[in-house]
Amino acid sequence: MAIREIRTIGDEILSKKARPVEKIDGRIQTILGDLADTLHGTGNGVGLAAPQVGVLRRLVVIDLGDGVINLVNPEIIKSEGERVVEEACLSVPGRRGKVKRPVRVTVRFLDETGAAKEIEADELLGKCLCHEIDHLDGILYVDRALEVWNEG
Ligand code: ZN
Repeated sequence: MAIREIRTIGDEILSKKARPVEKIDGRIQTILGDLADTLHGTGNGVGLAAPQVGVLRRLVVIDLGDGVINLVNPEIIKSEGERVVEEACLSVPGRRGKVKRPVRVTVRFLDETGAAKEIEADELLGKCLCHEIDHLDGILYVDRALEVWNEG
């Protein structure tokens, strides 16, 4: 496994739509492992999507501190409510912003073994899922932010 370079805003790959994964093979598992290593290498990130390391496939890893969740072809199948949350992004260093997100989402995905799963999430995991799935559609939070400011 390896740490990959995180692409930052201005890199056109971040605005492209990622392709679905058709088969979870060794290559896909390597990308998932690299995403986790790269995420952990940042020291403060909670999620990373494959386009952020230059790979246009629908792959996301999330780790809120209690273990890595690997999501292949994640899809929001239900969302409820609306709230304004604060977000930052490893691809938009030094900035934070306010974004409207659902209060609660249900996400369907395959795990790293190909098993079909669903997560129902709110709070930090809920917004993180929305943020990372946006990356797969070429959307950065700053594209939908109500307000963005420089951090610190
Ligand atoms: Zn991001």
